[in-house]
Amino acid sequence: MNFHWTDIAAALHKAAMPFAAILASSLLTLNAANAGSISKIDARDGLITVSFDGFVEGATTFSLAGPDRIAIDVKGGKAGRGGYAAGMIKSVRQGQYEPNIARIVFDLDRPAVITGGGFTADGKRLKLRLQTVGDNALAKGRKSFVPPAQFRAEPPKNSYSVKVPLGKPQDKVALPKVSGPKDPSRPLVVIDAGHGGHDPGAISPHGSQREKDITLAISRAVRDQLVASGRVRVAMTRNSDKYLVLEERYGIARRLDADLFISIHADAAGNQSAAGATVYTLSEVASDREAAKLAARENRSNIINGVNLGASNQDVSSILIDLTQRETMNVSADFAKLLIREGQRLIKFRTNPHRFASLVVLKAPDTPSVLFESGYLTNKEDVQLLSSRAGQTKVAIGIANAIEAHFARKLAQR
Ligand code: ZN
Repeated sequence: MNFHWTDIAAALHKAAMPFAAILASSLLTLNAANAGSISKIDARDGLITVSFDGFVEGATTFSLAGPDRIAIDVKGGKAGRGGYAAGMIKSVRQGQYEPNIARIVFDLDRPAVITGGGFTADGKRLKLRLQTVGDNALAKGRKSFVPPAQFRAEPPKNSYSVKVPLGKPQDKVALPKVSGPKDPSRPLVVIDAGHGGHDPGAISPHGSQREKDITLAISRAVRDQLVASGRVRVAMTRNSDKYLVLEERYGIARRLDADLFISIHADAAGNQSAAGATVYTLSEVASDREAAKLAARENRSNIINGVNLGASNQDVSSILIDLTQRETMNVSADFAKLLIREGQRLIKFRTNPHRFASLVVLKAPDTPSVLFESGYLTNKEDVQLLSSRAGQTKVAIGIANAIEAHFARKLAQR
C-alpha cells in the first residue's frame, strides 16, 4: 500500500522521492473531515431512510437479483455500521466501497425497485420509496439523487497528478510456471507479490526500501521453502518487477484452479511505532477503521490518474460479496488463524492479527484467499527484518509451514 497522501507530501519535502513513488501518490485527495458519515439507517416496508451526520455529494441506487438486493452508493459518504431492517427488507449492511463511496446493501425477501424519493431539504437525510415487482421487472441501471446545492458536499479535488503514458493491462496475462511436484492432484498455492512495476507500494521513510521489492523477495522465499519440502505445488503471480491489476492477480489463481491464494504486502503508517504482521480476509464491512483505510490504500493499486484499471467497477454485481463466497470465506478465515498460530514462532504479529476488509485482491469467489501484511516499512526493526535475506527467509518459513499444515489438515478431513 502507499503512504497516506499527506505522508507522501511531507516526505517529498524531505527527500527526493523516486519518480515511481510520486506517480503512486497521484491519487484523489480525500478530505475525510468533509465526508458525512452514515449515522442511521431505517428500512421498513415501502420506505428507506438514511441519515447523515454531515453533507454528502449524492447517492445512486440500483437493484440486483439472485439474491434480491438493493444497493445505495453514497458519494462523499463514510460508512458506519449496521442499520434497522424490517418487513420485506431482511437485513442491511454497509461498508466503504471506495475511499469516497460508502455502499449500503439491503437484502430483500422478494424483488423490489426504488420508485422515487430524495434528500430532505437540509441534505441530512435520504428517503427512498420502495416497491415490490415481479421477478422480471427489475430496473436496470441506476437512479441518482443529490442534496440541495447549498447542503451538498464538494467533490474532492485532484490536488496531485502526474500524467504518464500507460500501457493497458493485458487482456489475459500469461499463466506462470507451476513449481513443485509434477503430480496435479497435489494442492496448489498461488503466492502473489503485492505491487510491482510503476506501483512501488509503501516506501520506507528515506526511500531505500520499497514494498514491491520486499514482497517479491518474500514470495520467492516462500516458493523456495515449499519446493524444497516437495509437498505442495506453487506458482507466483509475478516473478519480476511487473505490474498486474488486482483482478489479474486472483484471476491467475482461478485460472490455475488454485487451492489457496496468498497476497504478500508490507504496510506503512504515520506512527513509527506501529509494527508487526497482520492477516486480512475478505469482508464487505471492515473489522475496524484501520482495516478500512488499509483496504482503501491497497485497492488504489488499480488506480492511476483517477482511472481504475480493474474490471470490477463496471460490474456492480461482482463487487458484492455473495452468499456463494461464504464457504470460500470460511476456509480463508481458517487459514488466517492457522497462519497466525503456526507462524507466531517465526513471525511477530500485532495484537488482533486477524482482521477483515474489502480487499479487491481477495475477491475470487472460489479460491480461499488471505492478504498477509508482513510488517511496517515505517518501523525501524520491521524494515530491517523485512529487507534482510535472513528476515525474509524467517517470515517465508513461517508462511510455508502454515500452508503445509493447512493442506495436511484438509487431507485429514477428507
Ligand atoms: Zn501493499
